[in-house]
Amino acid sequence: MKINLSTLTIVKAHESLVKGDYSAVELAQAYLDEIKKNNGELHAYLEVYDDVLEQAKLADERMALLKKEKKEIPALLGIPFAIKDNILIKGKIASSASKILENYTATYDAAVISKLKEVGAVFIGRTNMDEFAMGGSTENSAFGVTKNPHDTSRVPGGTSGGSAAAVASDMALVALGSDTGGSIRQPSSFCGVVGLKSTYGAVSRYGLMAAVSSFDQIGPIAKTVGEVEIIFNAISGEDTNDSTTFNRETYKPKKVGKKKPVIGIPRSFLAMGGIAESVKKVFEETEKKFKSLGYEIKDIELPANAYALSVYYILNFAEISSNMARFDGVKYGLHADGKNSIDDYFASRATGFGPEVRRRILLGTYVLSSGYYDAYYYRANAARRLITDDFIKAFESVDIVLTPTAPSPAFKIGEKTADPVTMYLEDIFTVTANLTGLPALSVPSGFAEIDGKKLPIGMQLTARHGDEATLFEAGKDIEIGV
Ligand code: GLN
Repeated sequence: MKINLSTLTIVKAHESLVKGDYSAVELAQAYLDEIKKNNGELHAYLEVYDDVLEQAKLADERMALLKKEKKEIPALLGIPFAIKDNILIKGKIASSASKILENYTATYDAAVISKLKEVGAVFIGRTNMDEFAMGGSTENSAFGVTKNPHDTSRVPGGTSGGSAAAVASDMALVALGSDTGGSIRQPSSFCGVVGLKSTYGAVSRYGLMAAVSSFDQIGPIAKTVGEVEIIFNAISGEDTNDSTTFNRETYKPKKVGKKKPVIGIPRSFLAMGGIAESVKKVFEETEKKFKSLGYEIKDIELPANAYALSVYYILNFAEISSNMARFDGVKYGLHADGKNSIDDYFASRATGFGPEVRRRILLGTYVLSSGYYDAYYYRANAARRLITDDFIKAFESVDIVLTPTAPSPAFKIGEKTADPVTMYLEDIFTVTANLTGLPALSVPSGFAEIDGKKLPIGMQLTARHGDEATLFEAGKDIEIGV
């Protein structure tokens, strides 16, 4: 049977697997065939695992047993996942697309991987990314760029560009990415898929290579909001290995909207974002769509968000410089020989890290150094609080904050590599969710017609702590779907 991958969802695949229309092995094979056709050009995967069909066979056997015993069949049993290269799967290489970890084999499973293994998901391979999750285009990978499936002269976004491109090009049904400042949402916007950065602490970071520990979250990428919801429910929850995780019961939903959530639009903040005309158009259409569906729309102010991008990058560099210290050429990964141990250390880090990682380590140590700590790190942390307070105040009168996910559609490969600041400006709307710990969802909402190509554009919905449910509810109302 020929499986139509372009309109396939978790729910449809699950129904077909349960009915026996096709097996998990046949489903996995369909994706492997697609990978064979497209990965050479798109380069979404750094590696396709050699045991995919074995994993799928185990899923089929488990399915048969559960059926025989008349037991419930998990929704993700036999569902093919692409996994970002910074999430550990025991026995598999995880390199964070860095030369320094090129041959590093994970010795344990990330918490999210253990959870997915329990429900029988199939891991197809590890996806390309910006080195150690620093970037916005997947061009910072040490192993080559990933191309946008909608226009191969353009970037897929980053840093989870491989994961988003894999889902958009039917090389995986769904994927996991990680988001430190937009790395799930921005590539989702560029590739026309749905991506969630959950509430900080909703999903365990155990087994995720740390970039910025106070921002990082692992999250789902899929074609529809419903699938993102299914995966989020499967991977979230308290974990004793990550003390920042919480029990989702902690947050009781409280909405101001009686029927539908109330949507807030931070118009003066949007005016600062340098939004492209095509994105503006989709934003206006989305606002209209919400109105026509009976949502109340209110204008809100987020004054401290004018500083969000600067605050984000100061804190990002600071935490990155500290997290990257563990790569010393001794504990794991690449080892380069020098005259003595300190020389080894310098040589390993100089050959192992790419330019963006080195830049951030330098700037991070600068903002943390005595004499500058108070002026940069300390003040940025104080401003982080003010940015959070803006949102707390806004959520007294609205349930969702609506912005575009990114100020532009996918840009050309090479367009922003020469000037890192233009790349950082891409993150203006996404970093606030990481600074505040709030959940945010990118939903494909329209297209831009550029050079005869249809480039997807995503809108971003942000909600209160722990209120992913409201994001899913509103997201389903505006998504384009499959
Ligand atoms: N573009 C942002 C950065 O470079 C976001 C990265 C991320 O979310 N991992 O920091």
